[in-house]
Amino acid sequence: CGIIGYVGDQSALDISLQGLRRLEYRGYDSSGIAVVGAGELRTARRAGKLANLEKLLAENPEPDPMPGTTGMGHTRWATHGGPTDVNAHPHIDCTGAIAVIHNGIIENFALLRAELEAGGHELASETDTEVVAHLLEVELAGDPDPDPDPAEVSHPLAAALRRVCQRLAGAFTLVVVHRDFPEVVVGARRNSPLVVGLGEGESFLASDVSAFIAHTREAMEIGQDQVVEARRDGVIVTDFEGRPVQNRRYHVDWDA
Ligand code: GLU
Repeated sequence: CGIIGYVGDQSALDISLQGLRRLEYRGYDSSGIAVVGAGELRTARRAGKLANLEKLLAENPEPDPMPGTTGMGHTRWATHGGPTDVNAHPHIDCTGAIAVIHNGIIENFALLRAELEAGGHELASETDTEVVAHLLEVELAGDPDPDPDPAEVSHPLAAALRRVCQRLAGAFTLVVVHRDFPEVVVGARRNSPLVVGLGEGESFLASDVSAFIAHTREAMEIGQDQVVEARRDGVIVTDFEGRPVQNRRYHVDWDA
């Protein structure tokens, strides 16, 4: 329902919680966060109000329960699988390296799930979303492209997400982080909104500009069937085939 992604120098946990609070007005039944830092991917998720997630984080004995400056947050409005802790996003792959959050509905998830299970993947939730984490795992484990297009400057995580998106039907805003790639947050969209916030040394991905306008008012809309690779120093946007696209940048001069 609500999505915020971040890469920069600030605490990704703080930015994500703040963004989710700004998106609360949309309504939701669960929330969750993923942060990449110190060589780890940490996730926390809870059914119910954001306060339930904050309580879980407060129970952690560490002073900083989720250290790192790359991460994302999600509020869920359940469509596939009830509003439980296990169905709350982020969803992770079998290796525990990849985390995915999603708005929308992946219509062909049952077919993809059956294919993944036949290939030995164990899926933990009842959501349509979880297949994306496992499909990314398969793509990233595959042999690297033997004949890469030199014009293609993309990060392997963005390239993997493009290949996965080509297999998805339905509506989706997806945001992904990876334990081994703290330098990027990647996102994709079809029939569901995704906007970029371009800060000084930091970038944001969100379902709505209100999630990041406390930090930057420089925005860029992501078009239909596009993948965005966000880094501290800017973003690279392509279509699902990997062709670079130029999107309009604009200044948000209203209060969202
Ligand atoms: N279809 C997904 C689920 O049920 C995402 C729902 C949403 O947009 O929040 O988990």
